[in-house]
Amino acid sequence: MHHHLPALGSGNGGGLNLTPLVNTIAAGQQQRAAEQAQAQADKLRKETTTVESWLGPENFQRLLRYCGAAVEADLPPLWAALAKATAKDRLGIFQGKVANELIAMGAMFEKYTPSLYLLTEVTALRWAMLNPDALDTGSLGNAFLFTDSDVETEQGINRQIGFVQSGGAAPSLADAQILLKMKVNMPGPDDSIGAVRRMQAVYRAILPVGHQLTTFLANHHDIMKAFDPNWQNYATYVPRLRSLKGVFHLQWLSLKLSRYFTQLDHNYPIITFPDPADIVNCIQEQRQWEPIITDVFINKYNLSSFMALHCPADAMSVVTALTAGSESIAGSVVSGLTAATPVGRPSNGGGGGSTARNTAIDRVENTHFNTALFGTYRHSATKTRALRQKIAAGELPALPPSKNDSSKPVCLAWHTKGQCNTNCPLTSDHVAYTAAEYAALATWCRDHGYRSE
Ligand SMILES: [Zn+2]
Repeated sequence: MHHHLPALGSGNGGGLNLTPLVNTIAAGQQQRAAEQAQAQADKLRKETTTVESWLGPENFQRLLRYCGAAVEADLPPLWAALAKATAKDRLGIFQGKVANELIAMGAMFEKYTPSLYLLTEVTALRWAMLNPDALDTGSLGNAFLFTDSDVETEQGINRQIGFVQSGGAAPSLADAQILLKMKVNMPGPDDSIGAVRRMQAVYRAILPVGHQLTTFLANHHDIMKAFDPNWQNYATYVPRLRSLKGVFHLQWLSLKLSRYFTQLDHNYPIITFPDPADIVNCIQEQRQWEPIITDVFINKYNLSSFMALHCPADAMSVVTALTAGSESIAGSVVSGLTAATPVGRPSNGGGGGSTARNTAIDRVENTHFNTALFGTYRHSATKTRALRQKIAAGELPALPPSKNDSSKPVCLAWHTKGQCNTNCPLTSDHVAYTAAEYAALATWCRDHGYRSE
């Protein structure tokens, strides 16, 4: 027996030595008591954790300023919930709240889940972008964080975050970098309005009910949405940069919002509040609203390949300009932006009557576009194809003849939209007209084609 259970043998004349067992039980009781005390302390800490104690006094004051709140009780309930939660539960709470806001807005089919990056930056009170080119900074003041993302990738990352945070794996530095990585997706030309809606859901979650920024986003979204057919046809102040329309829009929004937060930070006596109808007003008055996009921005976010993806013709023209050695990509975009003429960059000394620039590809631009006569039709929702169909059907009278070939009509797209393509059967009409030569076409547009406008 002793041979098999040596612990029983020593000291007590064959009796049992209970000391180790007693010690183990006592240690277990102590441990349980310690755990209970810890749980009690946790519970107490949770109950007494305030938003102020969680964020620290400085960031707490900043949050009150951003929210327009006087005291902690004025903050939306999300903040107290985040303060009391453990670190691993916060992302889920935040995502749940934003999902509820989307439903409350009637946007339940919107596939959007805020990222850990967004939560981290929001709760660190880093809301404004550091500078206009730094799309990898800021949170609520950075509209590029709310663009369409790859939903599958996003869900994969969310699962990973859940696994790491539940203690399933210790996060490595590489994990942390992946999880916290801020992914900037440039919006396509017509994708930016959806981003405004997602932003609105996050603002509703984070700011008190009726905050004027939330109202601004709601109004801005509705105005852009109501303007939608015109927005889709709107070719940007510099037509060649049309594929950057969504980028311009979100940059415009980011600059307005970031400036607002920065002014609050610096205690400006008068805070400049953005006008939700600004873009639409500018377009209707044919004024430029697009912000300047810097060389740094263009190179950092590889906008030339982005343009190639969304509008091969436009990017090709940039590439042709490059290979011709005439200007850099950045130079052409910037010079395009700052060009004085509303029809875009002046022709490259190509001169003469021929104004076609993109010879190798489809689109040709009318650099002699007559804004005074046809400016209001340029961004009109009325498509030239629809007008041509009505003419063919006899619903509208024929167009006046081309000045170069009286057997053919004028090219409606070239003269009234300022652009056409190289496959057009009327390329012989893709030439400059004087105001006098335009008289018949101007009358036709006013009385027939674009009559309602
Ligand atoms: Zn044409």
